[in-house]
Amino acid sequence: MRLYDTRLKAVVPVVPSRPGELSVYACGPTVYRDAHVGNMRTFLLTDLIRRTAEMEGLSVVVVQNITDVGHMADDTGLGAVDEGQGDGDDKVLRQAALEGLTALEIAREYEQRFHADLAALNIYPAAHYPRASESIDLMIDLIALLMERGHAYVGGDGSVFFDARSFPGYGELSGNRLDDLRPGHRFEGAVDPAKAFHADWALWKRALDTRTQLVWDTPWGVGFPGWHTECSAMSLALLGSTIDVHTGGIDLRFPHHEDERAQSNCATGTDVVRHWVHGEHLLFEGRKMSKSSGNVVLVGDLVDRGLDPLALRLAFLQHRYRQQMNLTWEVLVAADSMITRWRERLADWATHPSEAMPAEVVASVRAMFDDDLDTPRAISLLRELEKDPAVSPGAKFEAFAHLDRLLGLDLASDVGRAPAAQAPLPDEVEALLSARAEARAARDWSGSDRLRDELDALGFPVIDTPDGQQVQR
Ligand code: AMP
Ligand code: ZN
Repeated sequence: MRLYDTRLKAVVPVVPSRPGELSVYACGPTVYRDAHVGNMRTFLLTDLIRRTAEMEGLSVVVVQNITDVGHMADDTGLGAVDEGQGDGDDKVLRQAALEGLTALEIAREYEQRFHADLAALNIYPAAHYPRASESIDLMIDLIALLMERGHAYVGGDGSVFFDARSFPGYGELSGNRLDDLRPGHRFEGAVDPAKAFHADWALWKRALDTRTQLVWDTPWGVGFPGWHTECSAMSLALLGSTIDVHTGGIDLRFPHHEDERAQSNCATGTDVVRHWVHGEHLLFEGRKMSKSSGNVVLVGDLVDRGLDPLALRLAFLQHRYRQQMNLTWEVLVAADSMITRWRERLADWATHPSEAMPAEVVASVRAMFDDDLDTPRAISLLRELEKDPAVSPGAKFEAFAHLDRLLGLDLASDVGRAPAAQAPLPDEVEALLSARAEARAARDWSGSDRLRDELDALGFPVIDTPDGQQVQR
């Protein structure tokens, strides 16, 4: 498999550091609200990498963190006074205050909903979902180690800061050189007087006395972790000092991943992450999804509109992960009918004698996934295969069923199900239907309504269409 490596700015082969086993760390959700479809696009990226690697015979270990503390409402991280210390600055605490619940009640509720959304999109569960609030000891050890090695110091306000200048590789991931981050250059703001240098960031924050939740006692006083600290601590603890692939949305490249890289590399003395892979952002109806524009779309919104959540997965597959994508309801409706059509085709093809897969097409689709997840090309090739008169239905069935391990679209879910139109209606229902057709022809609306109620009661609701009444089965 080849993937676009953000640091190297090139598509490169991904070779596991341990033969046969690929380790992947995926930045997970901040659990203070439902994940929107943009977040889901990024979470799908990890699943596609995993399925592609598994298809190659690798065993894949995915770790995805749950951020339930430390993610600030303002996380621009541009080296200024952007990192508060009170309740209102932490996303989870702010939501807890709004909903009148405790921070952990909020966090566990949204975490559980995150898992339900992943399942709805056929995203395989990770091997581990470490929670930041339960990994504080790991973070304390990491911070102590960084201090011992001269990469961190206690600042003027009692918080512990990472010394950005102590890591020569700083900026390799995002292209932000330390000087560029100076206030006034790209960012108008004041430097936090507690830190020694404008680009340093807090590993551990001293809490205000008023903060009562999500605080821990440490050698540096009562406080809470900075957001970037958790990902270094948890990834090193669960995956060790070499991680093959690290994923996240493009916005995390800076400061989150740049800072995480500095922390992890300085703690271990090695370049921990071999490949940083970022997914581009999703727009909805042409705009950035945000609460203030009122266009935040959730998986549940698709379900409310009668769409299969896997239509979202297919719509994502029709675009390459590292291109910005504009999702619309129209695209989703089209993807939904394409999935339905494919499932019907598979159900039909499955009734034909099985034949060997068209090896070339299958190999090409796999090669497209291997080629930096060129999923749009893979989908068009499958559409050609669908229509190809030279390939037998039995062979098409085998190919689609096999490749669904990569696609994850439940394409064989209708196989074996009798097509609805073929099952005959009970005589009684037929009789009621013709009586109703007669009543409608005679403009006897109350008679027609009464007959509809009777049909309804028998479990055969009808609707009236321009082509006449139709039974809903
Ligand atoms: P959060 O829950 O806000 O920490 O974000 C979870 C993941 O979703 C991160 O990897 C983000 O980079 C990613 N993300 C946020 N917004 C979008 C978007 N509009 N499109 C794609 N990914 C996004
Ligand atoms: Zn992270």
